[in-house]
Amino acid sequence: MSILGTRRNFFEHIYRALAGCTLAHTLPFRAAATTPKLADEGEDYYDKLGVTKIINAAGTYTHLTASTMPPSVQAAVARAAKHPVRLAPLQRAAGEYLARQLHCEAAMVTAGAASAVTLATAACITVGSDSAGHAIPTDMVGLKSEVVVQKAHRYDYDHALRSCGIRFVEVETLPEYEAAINKNTAMCFFYNAADEGNISREDWIRIAHAHGVPCLNDAAADVPPISNLWNYTQMGFDLVAFSGGKGMRGPQNAGLLLGRKDLIAAAAANNSPNDDTVGRGMKVAKEQIVGMVAAVDWFLSQSDAEMDAEFRRRIDRITGALKNIPTLKSETFIPPIANHVPHLLIRYDQERVKISPLEVARQLRSGTPSIELNPATGSTEGSAGIPKDPNKIVVGVWMLEPGEDSIVGLRLRDVLAKAATS
Ligand SMILES: *Cc1c(COP(=O)(O)O)cnc(C)c1O
Repeated sequence: MSILGTRRNFFEHIYRALAGCTLAHTLPFRAAATTPKLADEGEDYYDKLGVTKIINAAGTYTHLTASTMPPSVQAAVARAAKHPVRLAPLQRAAGEYLARQLHCEAAMVTAGAASAVTLATAACITVGSDSAGHAIPTDMVGLKSEVVVQKAHRYDYDHALRSCGIRFVEVETLPEYEAAINKNTAMCFFYNAADEGNISREDWIRIAHAHGVPCLNDAAADVPPISNLWNYTQMGFDLVAFSGGKGMRGPQNAGLLLGRKDLIAAAAANNSPNDDTVGRGMKVAKEQIVGMVAAVDWFLSQSDAEMDAEFRRRIDRITGALKNIPTLKSETFIPPIANHVPHLLIRYDQERVKISPLEVARQLRSGTPSIELNPATGSTEGSAGIPKDPNKIVVGVWMLEPGEDSIVGLRLRDVLAKAATS
């Protein structure tokens, strides 16, 4: 069959852009062979709306729509869309199934990790009260409204907690932590992938529990390893939040809140479909509930070793295309906690290859197909453990579709070779 297959429009551009190179020999067009017939696929609304499809060589970034769902998850979502059901039994059954699969007491599907953090905070404030939910966030008198946090664990998602009307109480040392907990403390919060902070997870849990206060861990981006889905609840965190659209490749607007039964029930009470709640705007539709459950099934069917090996093969294919670029050095880098998968770091002597990493990123973005490199490329802001020096290109390979590693390698080769001086 034609190697152009059903993704013709997309790949036609690539052939035009890369005509004359060895692409035809290097691209495995498996996608074409397994893609359903056009009639089943529906209209291409990205094309209709004039929105450019990208190759995601960045990672699970929200502004790049995070991940794509594997075929089994896409199919489960499409099938769920065909039938109405009663929402409450679907929420309950999904939660019970997830709790069994993920070895925790209770679970719920949320509208992402940020929503899970909001609902967890609301749960810790309102647990044991049927009426407190409507008071959040403006009428906090008489409710526990302090959240203890390590100073180094304040982060970009603070608003997910603050939308519950809480005040952060920052601590840096163990004695400060002990002293900070009082009768107004609703929750002790831990940011799992924080770069800094003196107090360990174990100490964080121990001290909170000594005072009868629940602990939430935001581990949104912290799978793989797959076992992290139960490591933190089993360590003793009362609640743990994960993003559904990151490593698990579920729907982008889905996530998981896992943990204690009474707290998950309180979180659910603060969520849609209950109208007068902080979570009412965080509705999770039947398609996303099913999609999240299917994504967990898919993710549990994977193995850490096989995923690691596949990501390293992609890195090898990209570096294979860059063999002749003078002074180029490549390195495989695994961030310690969040996005804990092999990334490709590329450095070169910019006196010999006269182009900055930022300009490389710009040219790949404006080329056809449009490629997004990891945003740490050329940046002094190292994200999630990625080094901060600006003289590097970072390729996140884990969200690439089959064949796209070769395209990224060839585009990088073109741009770098053009800038190389002899
Ligand atoms: C990505 C992320 C979130 C938000 O996840 P969503 O699923 O997009 O809501 C929250 N916390 C951390 C630490 C994250 O990395």
